[in-house]
Amino acid sequence: MKQQLLVIGAGFGGLWSALSAARLLDMHDRQDVEITLLAPQAELRIRPRFYEPDVHSMFAPLDALLDAVNVRFVKGTAERIDEQKRRVGYRDEAGRPGELSYDKLILASGSQLSRPPVPGLSEYAFNVDQIESAARLERHLLSLGKQPASRARNTVVVAGGGFTGIETATEMPARLRAVLGADEDVRVIVVDRSAGIAATMGDGIRPSIVQASEALGIEWITGATVASLDANGVTLADGRHIESHTVIWTVGFRASALTEQLTGERDGLGRLHVDGNLKVRGQDNVFAAGDVAYAATDDLGNYAAMSCQHAISLAATPATTRRRTCSASRQCPTANPSTSPAWTWARGARCIPKAGIVS
Ligand SMILES: Cc1cc2nc3c(=O)[nH]c(=O)nc-3n(C[C@H](O)[C@H](O)[C@H](O)COP(=O)(O)OP(=O)(O)OC[C@H]3O[C@@H](n4cnc5c(N)ncnc54)[C@H](O)[C@@H]3O)c2cc1C
Repeated sequence: MKQQLLVIGAGFGGLWSALSAARLLDMHDRQDVEITLLAPQAELRIRPRFYEPDVHSMFAPLDALLDAVNVRFVKGTAERIDEQKRRVGYRDEAGRPGELSYDKLILASGSQLSRPPVPGLSEYAFNVDQIESAARLERHLLSLGKQPASRARNTVVVAGGGFTGIETATEMPARLRAVLGADEDVRVIVVDRSAGIAATMGDGIRPSIVQASEALGIEWITGATVASLDANGVTLADGRHIESHTVIWTVGFRASALTEQLTGERDGLGRLHVDGNLKVRGQDNVFAAGDVAYAATDDLGNYAAMSCQHAISLAATPATTRRRTCSASRQCPTANPSTSPAWTWARGARCIPKAGIVS
């Protein structure tokens, strides 16, 4: 009976973990370990580009890649992790229950947008968190062209001025004009709690964000909180109302809820504390990679950000070099999945192995 290495999630953390483990086994000519990847789709969905047009094309199919490196794919959504019995319960596409056993588990189920109980949020806000919700935003933006001209039609409010909010906001002027006309008077407004534009991002990057915002005509309302949403826009905590038919929520991300099923310490975002080999602290058989892992990037007290850049570095780089390769920026190396060096690198399965996973 082969040892079972189970990876949950086919995103940046999960895919690179599976490929790295396959490479390591190959290098050591090990035939006694089976790698299984469990995810709802055999696709690498390119989350960092979900604010762009044609979002339905932002994925790379994985079947051929996984076949080539002997990784078994199971289509399903993990629901339960039994750390005592080392089993994962899941549901397949048709809703049928299934179960997978493991000797070692890599949890890489990513993160989700935080949805605080703000009145009107679930009914009226759009988001770019998942491919389906980003496609819904895209359909909505295209439909604006059929609406009568109004201030609310021409205004996009982006709630949250973090990386995702900035990336989303800077795309919106062009996307709105593509639908409404090149000369249309469009407004894009970022609402953020911070005292100033990109106030928490450091002096190095802030001037570029200010400059880009000015160049694109993006307005910032800082020191402000969204109190509620309605069909005609947002109301801020200070009572101001901004008319908009397009409010995009980007305020905060939280690690996958599967992390809550494991014994172990978690940070404020729900990420599991891991050691230098990404083993979940307090667990013998469970590792975490990507947005579910709270991983040190140096000995100075810095930790990985929720980013594909960190997810890939963490999952694909041995612990000895990991700390040097992770940086604080969120520049994603896999901007185009089919042509980027990282993707070519993955396709060739020349990934550097992750130490510690296979005993
Ligand atoms: C709009 C946006 C823009 C971004 N921009 C950037 C950027 O410019 N640069 C950057 O570095 N990062 C960026 N990020 C963050 C980056 O996308 C994430 O940090 C990265 O995707 C994390 O990788 P991951 O593998 O941990 O999770 P994900 O890529 O989210 O993958 C999670 C995987 O787990 C699967 N999964 C989830 N739940 C289950 C379950 N219960 N059972 C089985 N499988 C499950 C999912 O289907 C998916 O395959 C952005 C994110 C967003 C939303």
